[in-house]
Amino acid sequence: MSSTPRPLVAGNWKMNGLSASISEIETIAQHYDAGLRAKVELAICPPATLLSRAAPIVAGAEIRLGGQDCHAKANGAHTGDISAEMLADAGAAYVIVGHSERRCDHGESDALVRAKAEAGLRAGLAPIVCVGETRAERDAGRASEIVERQLDGSLPQDVAPERLVVAYEPVWAIGTGLTPTLQDVAQMHAAIRARLVTLFGAGAGATRILYGGSVKPANAGELLRIANVDGALIGGASLTAKDFLAIAEIYR
Ligand code: PEP
Repeated sequence: MSSTPRPLVAGNWKMNGLSASISEIETIAQHYDAGLRAKVELAICPPATLLSRAAPIVAGAEIRLGGQDCHAKANGAHTGDISAEMLADAGAAYVIVGHSERRCDHGESDALVRAKAEAGLRAGLAPIVCVGETRAERDAGRASEIVERQLDGSLPQDVAPERLVVAYEPVWAIGTGLTPTLQDVAQMHAAIRARLVTLFGAGAGATRILYGGSVKPANAGELLRIANVDGALIGGASLTAKDFLAIAEIYR
């Protein structure tokens, strides 16, 4: 487990959650006591439709909210899109960019992901930039090369390292119940840290590197104790307060 900075456990609800799901956020807020707050930061990225509803609930509990994507521009004729400024206005502090479901389903390039990350910074949000290889790329021995290329192309160029979060999410581990070996996670996170130091200098120790991909209460303990794993980005297990809190409790 990395000693600095304070780890981050972030929930990515994806396209899940209606008004009734607000009760899960209420439960998380009730259980996020001072002891746990001191050990781990929590963020929830619900669908944009719930941000304004969630904002007053999490404010008192010091839980952060995040958007799941943003447009690179601040406003304009972009039907259906949401800007980083709109997310911030609705109460977000983070924005996920470059999730593999955006890269794959919407053909998002590294350059577009970088533009979105920079838009997040412009709006005062901390970007959570996702990177990760496909199964075929890992099987071909290209995982490190792919992730390094994504980092070089997707990360904002002018950023204070502490405002940046990187999420390593092997595409084949997302929503599948599969995870890399602990050794593979350790190797990739060390390689990401080394690349961040090359890009941003010694201060890159302040950038949190999250692991994401089928993190559950049962496997979180071993994954979150790996060096350079500064928290987790959680999909399925973030949808219930019980599982999300059980993962956060690893840090207590
Ligand atoms: C994700 O989509 O960011 C994710 C990590 O999903 P899951 O935890 O469901 O694998």
